[in-house]
Amino acid sequence: MASVTFDKATCLFPGSSTPAVDALDLEIEDGEFLVLVGPSGCGKSTSLRMLAGLEEVHSGRILIGNQDVTGQDPKERDIAMVFQNYALYPHMSVAENMGFALKLAKTPKDEIRQRVLEVARMLDLEQFLDRKPKALSGGQRQRVAMGRAIVRQPQVFLMDEPLSNLDAKLRVQTRTQIAQLQRRLGTTTVYVTHDQVEAMTMGDRVAVLEKGILQQCASPRELYNRPANIFVAGFMGSPAMNLFRLPVFDRGAMIGDTYVPIPRDVLGQVTETEVVLGIRPEHLEISADGLAVDVDVVEELGSEAYVYGRADVGGIVQQIVARSDWRNPPQKGDRLYLRFDPEHVHVFGTSDGRRIG
Ligand code: ATP
Repeated sequence: MASVTFDKATCLFPGSSTPAVDALDLEIEDGEFLVLVGPSGCGKSTSLRMLAGLEEVHSGRILIGNQDVTGQDPKERDIAMVFQNYALYPHMSVAENMGFALKLAKTPKDEIRQRVLEVARMLDLEQFLDRKPKALSGGQRQRVAMGRAIVRQPQVFLMDEPLSNLDAKLRVQTRTQIAQLQRRLGTTTVYVTHDQVEAMTMGDRVAVLEKGILQQCASPRELYNRPANIFVAGFMGSPAMNLFRLPVFDRGAMIGDTYVPIPRDVLGQVTETEVVLGIRPEHLEISADGLAVDVDVVEELGSEAYVYGRADVGGIVQQIVARSDWRNPPQKGDRLYLRFDPEHVHVFGTSDGRRIG
């Protein structure tokens, strides 16, 4: 096991004017489960591939433990990678697939057999050891790919969207299994996904990337409760946080008839003339009065419902989404009123989008 450090690691693809990953600074602790998340093209896979040695580091360094691995070959790095397509050898049995890296490393046969069996038991794959990958279900193949990584007992696991080929139900089951297994093994893991629910449920910490730049790295709770900027606020959470750009007056801003004070700087000043206020759908409550909303769509999910509508916020008609009690959701065309506690409002500056309160 080992820590992993990205030290201003930059990847610039030939012919591209902007880096795919720009001066990434990230320290991953020994034994930690770190999730890299962000929209398509934000640089998640490239970050992982730099760590694996599959992509050149243009500037900066990458360390595994205390060792600078920046110039090292992938083979020299003590890592094991699980890919989206599993990359199993079709002509080999499950046991051969799982033990292949050990065979290459000239590990004694008995030891290979022993380690493969142990991991197969862990992953409930014992009865499939003689089968070829084509005779397995998607979920079983995924477990073989995991098993192949675990058998090697590397210092670090790298996983690039390993669940994306599974159906929704299996994905939910498997994400729990992977997270539990990782905690049991205690192997430092870097896990790439574009799925924020996966990120929130699996990671000890989650690093959010956008356009090759790290936006925030924090625990799932911190990311959700205290997003560092407008991008993270809008990206984490589904449905997304409501965001309204509003003028500041009297050291605050108004959403409907509710006054939200704007935090002051160290000199006691409110420096912004406009702010972006954010409020999550679950913090809006349907009430007898408050912000008037005309309902356009009601999305019933069984245990809850989301109400999408339009409201006049700061003189502009804006989209708004609120969570509703599923037993009695409003209907399309209804007019309803929303109230909220100003304590739940997130405040961001408009100059750089950063959280100010
Ligand atoms: P996705 O979720 O879609 O897989 P990602 O966050 O993993 O996206 P990357 O694959 O890391 O994104 O890509 C980051 C950026 O680098 C993108 O703009 C992509 O087009 C670019 N890129 C990736 N690979 C190459 C390459 N081999 N040559 C040139 N540009 C590349």
